[in-house]
Amino acid sequence: MKRIAVFPGSFDPVTKGHESIVRRSVNLFDKLIIALGENSQKQSYFSMEQRLSWLRELFGQEEKIEISQYNGLTVEFCREKKARFILRGLRTSADFEFERGIGQMNKMMCPDIETVFLLCEPEYASLSSSIVRDILRHGGDVSRFLPDGITLSDI
Ligand code: ADP
Repeated sequence: MKRIAVFPGSFDPVTKGHESIVRRSVNLFDKLIIALGENSQKQSYFSMEQRLSWLRELFGQEEKIEISQYNGLTVEFCREKKARFILRGLRTSADFEFERGIGQMNKMMCPDIETVFLLCEPEYASLSSSIVRDILRHGGDVSRFLPDGITLSDI
């Protein structure tokens, strides 16, 4: 049975932290689906199209990586894609508490799907899309936080 994982997120915008999780985990699975979910709690800063386009630019050439988008429950999307793993990154204990709730609810809804956590690299522990957006709102330079090749100048 193929090991298919879904890496769900808002990627608003994609950062070096996300990129690191993807590159470190891709060899653990036969296929990794990076899935842009509509988060009901968050109004996105960048459009869905823009966020998808950055992900495609970054990972579109990678054989084992698929870029996708979904609405609704992550576990339902996993079922649709026959994915048995949900991949998430952990930066802080706050991330852990947040993820524990979601992970355990997902486990109750779908016992055959495992959530897999990767600790983030120490240099990315304070990096989040929300901080990048805050810097942007105040006219700061965020280029060092974005994956190489991703620029915001054309939007
Ligand atoms: P969500 O709205 O689902 O939290 P995000 O795009 O903020 O979406 O995050 C997607 C995933 O990437 C989450 O598992 C998050 O913990 C992880 N992540 C975000 N930033 C980093 C980082 N700097 N290092 C490692 N993982 C990260």
